[in-house]
Amino acid sequence: MVRAAVLRERGGPITVDEIVLPDPGPHQVRVRLAAAGVCHSDLSLANGTLRQKTPAVLGHEGAGVVVAAGAEVTRVSVGEKVVLNWSPSCGTCWFCRECEPYLCEHADDAAAEPYATLTDGTPIYAALGTGAFAEETVVGERAVVPLPADTDLERVAILGCAVLTGAGAVFHTAGVRKGQSVAVIGLGGIGLCAIQAARIRGAETIIGIDVAPEKGDLALQHGATAFVPAGDEALTAVRELTGGRGADHVFDCVGGGATTRM
Ligand SMILES: [Zn+2]
Ligand SMILES: [Zn+2]
Repeated sequence: MVRAAVLRERGGPITVDEIVLPDPGPHQVRVRLAAAGVCHSDLSLANGTLRQKTPAVLGHEGAGVVVAAGAEVTRVSVGEKVVLNWSPSCGTCWFCRECEPYLCEHADDAAAEPYATLTDGTPIYAALGTGAFAEETVVGERAVVPLPADTDLERVAILGCAVLTGAGAVFHTAGVRKGQSVAVIGLGGIGLCAIQAARIRGAETIIGIDVAPEKGDLALQHGATAFVPAGDEALTAVRELTGGRGADHVFDCVGGGATTRM
C-alpha cells in the first residue's frame, strides 16, 4: 500500500488515502516519486473541464526512481532516475510511423483502464496514465524517460509537462528564429519555459505579459527583455516594443477567452 491524493468524484475534494498498486506487468515499471508539479490540467481534470473517470489519482508532471521492473522491461533498470511521460508513443501505429508520435493512437491507453485499487477493492484510474500525486505509481516502460544519475529530481519534474509544452511550442510548433520578437501571455510554468526557449533560440525581443505585476522580475530573470502588465494597454505596449508591427510570435499560455482574443 502507498499513500495517494485521490479524487473521489468530479468536482469533489481530494483526500489522501491508501491505494493498492499491482506488481508491474511484463512491460511496466514501478516508480517511487520524488516530486510532482501541479499543472492547470490537474484542476481541469478535477473540475470536469477535461474528462476523467473517477476515483482517480491526478498528477502527471513527476520524477522519481524505478523500484521494480517487469520481466521484459529493457528501457530502464531498477534504481534508475526517471521523469514520467504522460503521452507515451507506441512506435508502431499509423501516426507513430508518420513521425507524429504526439498523435499516437495508444497514448491514452493507460488512462482508460483502472491501474490500482482503493483498500476496499474499488478500481481507481491514473489521470493521464501517470498518477503522480502518490508515493509510488505503476506505468508502462514507454511512460518513463531515464535521467542521468546526478539529476535533481525536484527540479526536473516539470520536464514532464510545462517544459515540453512551453519550450516545445517555441522550438517545434512556431520555430522561433534568431533575431525575432516573441510575446508570451501568462507566466506560469509553461510561459516561463516559452520565455527561456525563446532566449535559447536567440529571439531579440521577448515580452512577458501577465496580470500579476510580481511576475515581472521572474520573467526578466528567465530571459524576457520586457514585462507588460496584462490589460487594455498591453497590445499598445507590445506594438511599441516591436516597431509598431506586433510580435512575430505570440504564445497564449493561459488559453482563456480573453487571452485568445488578445
Ligand atoms: Zn500538465
Ligand atoms: Zn503510436
